[in-house]
Amino acid sequence: MNSIQDFNSKIKRVVISKEEIAEAIQKAGKEIDRIYDGRPILLVSILKGAFVFMADLCRAVSVPCEIGFMCAKSYYSGTVSSGVVQITMDLEQDVSQYHVVIVEDIVDTGRTLNDVVELLKGRNPLSLHVFTLLDKPSRRVVDFKADYSLFTIPDLFVIGYGLDCGEYYRNLPYIAEYDNQA
Ligand code: 5GP
Repeated sequence: MNSIQDFNSKIKRVVISKEEIAEAIQKAGKEIDRIYDGRPILLVSILKGAFVFMADLCRAVSVPCEIGFMCAKSYYSGTVSSGVVQITMDLEQDVSQYHVVIVEDIVDTGRTLNDVVELLKGRNPLSLHVFTLLDKPSRRVVDFKADYSLFTIPDLFVIGYGLDCGEYYRNLPYIAEYDNQA
């Protein structure tokens, strides 16, 4: 990164505004309240990309909620998942005691969430739902569908609202298309 001009020139256009995100999060919070109907839940954010979404979503739910974080990396041989998920930071909670909602930034090929869901299901949660901020269905490699997607987007590389490029741009309050050519 050479200059602030270089940095800003990579932000091609706003794809989803902060107002649109805020409105969609209120709806998602209400859906979580509807599903759990007063029962306590554990919101699990997959770091790092989902940290901003988690911060806003947890404030849009009214059911009693705990929060948890995990960092997961999936390994693949070529384009085929080995099925091995490396947890670089595991959840501190025992999910067998919880109704779990996974809070993810984006489902792209679907590999990471597919593996994380299998892993957590193996720990016998009381129930499990996946809420993702973004979904890029055209990029799917494994057959994975989130229970709730706030936005479906085309095959673009996006940044902002937690999503990075080379660790930058996570703090943008909106979701933008990243300009590879600029
Ligand atoms: P998947 O395993 O579904 O292919 O990948 C999910 C992860 O890839 C996301 O959690 C995110 O970190 C990264 N990713 C996928 N698409 C994008 C994108 O358009 N922008 C950014 N910044 N990260 C992405």
